[in-house]
Amino acid sequence: MRRKRLIWQFYPPFLLIILIALLAVTWVFSQSLSRFYKQETQRGLEAQATIVADQVTGFLLTDDEQPLDILSKRLGKKSGTRLTVILPDGRVVADSEHAPVKMDNHTSRPEIRAAMRGETGVAIRFSHTLQQEMMYVALPVIANQEIIGCTRAALPIATIADTLQAVLYPVVSSGLAIALVAALISLWLSRRISRPLDEMKQGAQRFAGGDLEGRLPDYRNEEMGGLADAMNRMASQLDERIQMVMRQRNEQEAVLASMVEGVLAVDREEKILRINQAAADLLDLEPETVIGRNIQETICKPDVQNFIIQALQSHTRIECSMTLFLHGEERFLQGHGTPLRDASGQEIGALIVLHDLTKLQHLENIRRDFVANVSHELKTPITAIKGSVETLQHGAMDEAESAQRFLEIIARQSDRLNAIIEDLLALSRIEQEEESSGIERELTDLNGLLQCAVQACQVKAREKQVSLEVSCPEALTANLNAPLLEQALVNLLDNAIKYSEPEGKVRITAEAQPAGQLTVTVQDWGSGIPREHLSRLFERFYRVDKARSRKLGGTGLGLAIVKHIVQAHKGQILVDSTPGEGSTFTIQLPQ
Ligand code: ADP
Repeated sequence: MRRKRLIWQFYPPFLLIILIALLAVTWVFSQSLSRFYKQETQRGLEAQATIVADQVTGFLLTDDEQPLDILSKRLGKKSGTRLTVILPDGRVVADSEHAPVKMDNHTSRPEIRAAMRGETGVAIRFSHTLQQEMMYVALPVIANQEIIGCTRAALPIATIADTLQAVLYPVVSSGLAIALVAALISLWLSRRISRPLDEMKQGAQRFAGGDLEGRLPDYRNEEMGGLADAMNRMASQLDERIQMVMRQRNEQEAVLASMVEGVLAVDREEKILRINQAAADLLDLEPETVIGRNIQETICKPDVQNFIIQALQSHTRIECSMTLFLHGEERFLQGHGTPLRDASGQEIGALIVLHDLTKLQHLENIRRDFVANVSHELKTPITAIKGSVETLQHGAMDEAESAQRFLEIIARQSDRLNAIIEDLLALSRIEQEEESSGIERELTDLNGLLQCAVQACQVKAREKQVSLEVSCPEALTANLNAPLLEQALVNLLDNAIKYSEPEGKVRITAEAQPAGQLTVTVQDWGSGIPREHLSRLFERFYRVDKARSRKLGGTGLGLAIVKHIVQAHKGQILVDSTPGEGSTFTIQLPQ
């Protein structure tokens, strides 16, 4: 429906009322004026007819018609009125404008009939003689209480109309001027009323469009001012509430986004209402694309789907452990499902929280393996010691040669136990330092450090006739924990010597890299390591060839210690090896 502007609802009726009022006033005024004028004219004609009646009484009594006609013509000329004298039989005996003989009998004229009855006769009608509208007033001429004729005075009514027109013209024109002024005032008034309403409409449209900052002007008018105030208050309250909702929403988003647990809200139709980044990562989804979509078409993990459906059906808190495969990796999840309720307590869906326990599980596995490995590693020397002691107790003590051999076994196995325990203690010390305050560092001369490590391994190297080469720029320094790094280098050099052929060569190199890093490389040309072992080489107790390692006095903890020391320095260790050609271990440290 097309709506009319307020001004067009106000203004035309105003204009119409003004025009009707003007017409009504003019009509009433002209009517009264016309009535008044006719009464005045009638009174004037009556007065003239009375005078004429008085003057013609004598002539009528003497039947002297000739002077009567002359008199009426003279009087008529002087007064500007048509004067007629009529006998009771209706014959005209004198007329100021016509010859009486040519005039017809006047008995039928209503004013004459009234005059003949002794009354004042008044009539307005068209005169065929004069060819115009006339007012006639006739009075009886009475002599000796007998009506002896009547006199009639007449004036053209057009004179009245002309006079009326002359009076009405200024009245109507000034009325029109007033109407025009009134119309202009009403137009101004209509605009005055509709302008604030227009402004308020625009303001309301701005508010509806989300611009709640602007305000409506302060109107002096009670109603408009009140309405504008109410709308301004509404806008500021709305603004406040929207800000509050946005704040709460942002807080919620921030909380959800910063949670490490995956959070997923699902409605009763199994459609996703909310999902945080952690949940999206766990389920391999894009949060923006899955909102509002069904879990059956978005979540391709049957275990999670079933858990969500169970949570929607259960009405209580439920829990479940799940195993997923994400990008080829196994993930262990602990799921919690809680009914989601609205403000009135009505269930509207379910809230799913997913805890990724993969790391914990992994750590638990490491711990379990570690305990098993330690037990196993300790069991071997203990069993050997126990066996030797028992053999000695059962008589071997008496044979000097056997006793010597078993005591040597006991001594070797004790050394081995000691080595394992020392390595374990070293590992735990480094871990503790790493976890608590971090390791202590100081500016260290790399050349000196490398020389110390080489010195520590010199005896073993000489035994095997392995030559140790050191290559390090003179003034190379770094901020590091010298004893720990020396231990790491000794472990690497020890391995390199162990797995080198006799008379082999081991090279240790330190250099500063252009990217600001420091690398220390230990290279040998020994047995090398098959590729499939490289990824697990730094695990505790991992050995490529267990028997050989044990024979060489290895504990399987050397590289694990190296890795922890490097990690404590925020660096990394890399290995490159080719079976039969040799191995290169590279420590990269931030300088
Ligand atoms: P281990 O005490 O047995 O040497 P490590 O942790 O030091 O234990 O080393 C783990 C395993 O890695 C060793 O058993 C060995 O098989 C292999 N390895 C380490 N360094 C070398 C090397 N330089 N050359 C060949 N194999 C090596």
